[in-house]
Amino acid sequence: MNICVIGTGYVGLPTGVGFAELGHKVVCVDKIKAKIDALNAGKITLFEEGLEELFRKNAASGDIKFTTEISEAVPNADIIIIAVGTPPRAETKEADMRYIYEAASEIAERLSGYTVIAIKSTVPVGVGDDAEKIIRDKNPKADFDLVSMPEFLREGFAVYDFFNPDRVVIGSNNGRAKTVIEALYDSYKQKPNILYTNRRSAELIKYASNAFLAVKIHYINEIADLCEKVGANVYEVAHGMGLDSRIGSKFLKPGPGYGGSCFPKDTGALAYIARKANVDLSIVEMAIKGNGERKIAMANRITDALQGVAKPTIAVLGLAFKGGTDDVRESPAIEIISELLKKGFRIKAYDPEATASAKAIFGDRIEYAVSANDAAKGADVLVVLTEWEEFKSISLKELQMRTKVIVDLRKTFDKQIAIADGFTYIGIGE
Ligand code: NAD
Repeated sequence: MNICVIGTGYVGLPTGVGFAELGHKVVCVDKIKAKIDALNAGKITLFEEGLEELFRKNAASGDIKFTTEISEAVPNADIIIIAVGTPPRAETKEADMRYIYEAASEIAERLSGYTVIAIKSTVPVGVGDDAEKIIRDKNPKADFDLVSMPEFLREGFAVYDFFNPDRVVIGSNNGRAKTVIEALYDSYKQKPNILYTNRRSAELIKYASNAFLAVKIHYINEIADLCEKVGANVYEVAHGMGLDSRIGSKFLKPGPGYGGSCFPKDTGALAYIARKANVDLSIVEMAIKGNGERKIAMANRITDALQGVAKPTIAVLGLAFKGGTDDVRESPAIEIISELLKKGFRIKAYDPEATASAKAIFGDRIEYAVSANDAAKGADVLVVLTEWEEFKSISLKELQMRTKVIVDLRKTFDKQIAIADGFTYIGIGE
């Protein structure tokens, strides 16, 4: 099939590369010329495990192409996948649909032959209706169906999730697009389960899922706070809870709060949708509030660990919002470091992939280390803010710190081993 993907970000690029790998002809479009130039020059523009290899292979074979010109991609496409950003508005946290509507408008006059337009971006309920109207108003003769195709991939696992999705949800108001969708997913070695719903349900499934996961994380963080007060251990509590198949063990790991480009944005957007619909979604509202406060509480925990240390240096491990990505959008690490900078601390940070993204935010206000050992050298506290696998193999004995204190907000180290190695260990919920 001929596939056009609009937007080459964390969703669009793995999606385009994935479909090319499955044998389709893909053209990816992005407005940012620098991104397209880089991709055309064979340089990947973001980090995702396993993506670069597939990108190079399919770019070399010509199965995936990149352009800034939507007119080069749309007319031949059997399916157009819209994967542009849907950022929050600053005041209300309402999702801003400007890029979706722009893309719809740009597509409209270039459609030729029957085309399925699939919105993969996360959009509020009813945006599919609005985008369809934009296209119909601009090009009444266009032969198309517009479906909602929400994306559930996890950053850091985008390639794996593309080829092994838990579920594919397609929201459509008629059955005509089904043939194209079925053909698209027939190319999978093992065809995923496809759930067909009406378009508005599909749009809400995405928000309801992300908000549920965010609430689950916030819940275990609150339980962790309670564990600290009553002498329980949150890891034992979470393990015991997770054995109940109705609860499940995932997303029960306490930490410095949820972040990333999705959970904060999507909880805010869902809360806004509910307020507008006069529905009390207080559980989501409380998670948003509590999650914001948690970052401050964690920064205070680090400050407390430095009591009595003159001119302390903080070694930070992790800048990305989670392991396996270079994405620092709404990263708890970024927010916590910002709080610590307000208090005037010197910060030396290390991240395996996200240093360049963090430099765009902090510039020279913090120092960037080339390894965990480099960050820790001469520091007064080692703070773990992101759960990178590589941090687990750090040998605490070898760290040349000035003061041996660890604030481990990701349960990277074993508390008993850290204590045996002469560290003061401050964790979460134990
Ligand atoms: P992103 O910001 O990384 O990428 C969006 C890209 O779209 C940018 O490169 C931008 O230049 C491009 N763009 C915007 N308007 C365009 C236009 N008219 N024509 C061509 N290109 C255009 O965003 P992302 O993280 O990939 O997220 C995209 C959508 O997918 C969002 O709605 C997000 O909520 C959703 N989503 C993201 C994830 C994730 O893990 N990042 C997971 C699931 C869903």
